[in-house]
Amino acid sequence: MNEIEHPRSLWRETALPAPAPVMLSDAVNADIAIIGGGYTGLNAALRAIERGLHPVVLEAAEIGWGASGRNGGVVSTKFRVSLSDIARHHDLEIARRMHRIGHDAMDCVERNIEELGIADAGFARTGNLRCAHNDLAQTRLVAEAETARDMFGDTSLTVLGADQVREETGSADFVGGVLSTHAGVIHPLSYARGLAAAVHADGGKIFEHSAVLARNKDGDRAVLTTAQGEVIARHVLIATNGYSDITAATAPVRGTVIPFRSAMIATEPLGPKLRTTLMPHGRSYSETRRMMRWFRPAGDRMLFGGRGAFGREDSASAFQALERALKNIFPQLAGTAITHRWSGLVAMTMDSLPQVGVLDERTGFALGYNGAGIALSSLMGSRVVDLMLGDKPDLGLIERDGPKPIPFYFLREPAVRTVAGWYQFLDAIGR
Ligand SMILES: Cc1cc2nc3c(=O)[nH]c(=O)nc-3n(C[C@H](O)[C@H](O)[C@H](O)COP(=O)(O)OP(=O)(O)OC[C@H]3O[C@@H](n4cnc5c(N)ncnc54)[C@H](O)[C@@H]3O)c2cc1C
Repeated sequence: MNEIEHPRSLWRETALPAPAPVMLSDAVNADIAIIGGGYTGLNAALRAIERGLHPVVLEAAEIGWGASGRNGGVVSTKFRVSLSDIARHHDLEIARRMHRIGHDAMDCVERNIEELGIADAGFARTGNLRCAHNDLAQTRLVAEAETARDMFGDTSLTVLGADQVREETGSADFVGGVLSTHAGVIHPLSYARGLAAAVHADGGKIFEHSAVLARNKDGDRAVLTTAQGEVIARHVLIATNGYSDITAATAPVRGTVIPFRSAMIATEPLGPKLRTTLMPHGRSYSETRRMMRWFRPAGDRMLFGGRGAFGREDSASAFQALERALKNIFPQLAGTAITHRWSGLVAMTMDSLPQVGVLDERTGFALGYNGAGIALSSLMGSRVVDLMLGDKPDLGLIERDGPKPIPFYFLREPAVRTVAGWYQFLDAIGR
């Protein structure tokens, strides 16, 4: 059996147990039907329950089957767009609101862990270190940290020099970095399963292996059809992120995001010497290349992730490229075996910001986290419900007055390869 055809995820082997799945096999009524059982959909269900509504979540596969069960578990306040760019292209006030939203998102995860009793999801506020791969990147990181401090009074960021970053990571590959204390790590699949358990416990319904095949209107109701049942609901939320092209039911949002494959590998358990010299503070770490890589400890193993697998499917060469990158940054791991490899789809948008809005009076959408969505999807899942109920939650630049399709969407696959190649070229020449 080929390992690439059957990748092995460390998260699936170590997650909290999943309850036996229930498939929709009947007609069910709901106040809000949610398509997608990732962080967005599950947080939306929890918010709906808080607002006195009865939610039903429909998941095509299993809870956390999408990016929510496959990611690196780096929880941070980060957007893919820098706040100084937002201030430059918009204004200071909107940059301030976006900064607040990033921090609210991180707080939302911490609150979920505490209030929903998901301590077993291994959340720890370890901090995140962004490591600069060259001087230009360090200058940009420092400028961004100064902007956050001077404009928004953010004291969670500390600039580190090359020696400090070497001590922090165990790698001599970086020229400096910025440490953010408002960040942490989590076991992603356990977090998803913990959220699902809370939805169950609070009276929400979740149906797995229940792909929504069609979405129709019936008077003032929406009817979602699966292979063996249907949900009749007042409101519908589409929360399918990088997996928005599985069926026609999510067609209106499909063209707003470009699915981009992101991959992870995990080492065998490291010996005591490597464990004490690599990442001794147990934070999460990301680097500044456009084709970003990130790493963190998980138990006694090292996890390493990156955007490298450009195709629709996993490829052996993409995992090999990731392993080479790991061993370039950490030559001391030259003889260390890689035991786990897996990947998933993130959803990129044209302006690198998520998209949250309503399609019509009964349908909302929240997606497009650009690969940094653990915290943001948790917050947006909650806020989109408020938006759908007619409130005005602060969504900053994330709120859209409808889905914004990407021009020339049909060219997305060659476009992804071209953009990825261009980014690799810029990284290689140090720009
Ligand atoms: C390898 C990888 C590493 C990442 N690392 C990080 C990280 O370290 N930090 C970070 O912040 N973010 C990270 N991310 C991004 C983060 O995981 C996502 O932004 C987040 O999980 C999005 O959650 P979601 O609920 O919106 O989407 P998803 O979790 O992708 O869920 C969408 C769900 O919709 C379901 N679905 C689709 N169509 C239908 C249908 N018709 N009917 C029913 N269900 C349907 C799918 O089965 C899927 O389960 C990473 C992502 C990947 C893939």
